[in-house]
Amino acid sequence: MHRTKVRIVEDALDANNTIASANRADFDRAGVKVVNFMSAPGAGKTTLLERVVADLPGLRVGVLEGDVEGSMDADRLAGLHIPVTQLNTSAGFGGECHLDANMVRSAIPSLPLDEIDLLLVENVGNLVCPAEFRIGEDSRVMVTAVTEGEDKPLKYPLMFRACELVIVNKIDLLPHLDFDLEKLLYNIDAVHPDVETIMLSARTGQGIDAWRDWLLRIPARAPEEAIA
Ligand code: MG
Ligand code: ZN
Repeated sequence: MHRTKVRIVEDALDANNTIASANRADFDRAGVKVVNFMSAPGAGKTTLLERVVADLPGLRVGVLEGDVEGSMDADRLAGLHIPVTQLNTSAGFGGECHLDANMVRSAIPSLPLDEIDLLLVENVGNLVCPAEFRIGEDSRVMVTAVTEGEDKPLKYPLMFRACELVIVNKIDLLPHLDFDLEKLLYNIDAVHPDVETIMLSARTGQGIDAWRDWLLRIPARAPEEAIA
């Protein structure tokens, strides 16, 4: 019984990786780098994008907004005069709580790949399954906010492991919280030793330069086997 179930899950993830590789090949052909941006709901992903998308010298940026429903975040970003494409998982994908390679594949015809150099994909806000599905990205960024507690890396280790950068957001609120930043960093290091971290406040702009710099020099892509 259990073996069968494990088998089915493995097959589904293999199928996802095959489609993710096809997506990546399409992005490569167009010369577009792709970042998969993940966090819990409300950690500040959209605000972090708003802060930088219009201010990346030499990079033409597009955004793919993943949400279960609605286009509130896409509408906010569209005001910045960059191409924004909405992907709703409630429209044909059963209202899934994450993006997978197949959903992103369905959006590719709507993406202006010839007009952009960098595609920022805002995943559905969720601390669990986004980490399980590659979408054909070059790099993954995990955002955690100091309002979420120091224990999150220990409770959701896969999210903190499946990324090349951890952004710690809302540090402007630290004086008002009983939050131990050292403990959070210790816990991040425990589940993902030496992962790059940036501490910032999307609200005040403190630390935003480091985030912009990271986007301007997106680390060399993971080797192909990292997709599988
Ligand atoms: Mg958002
Ligand atoms: Zn999910």
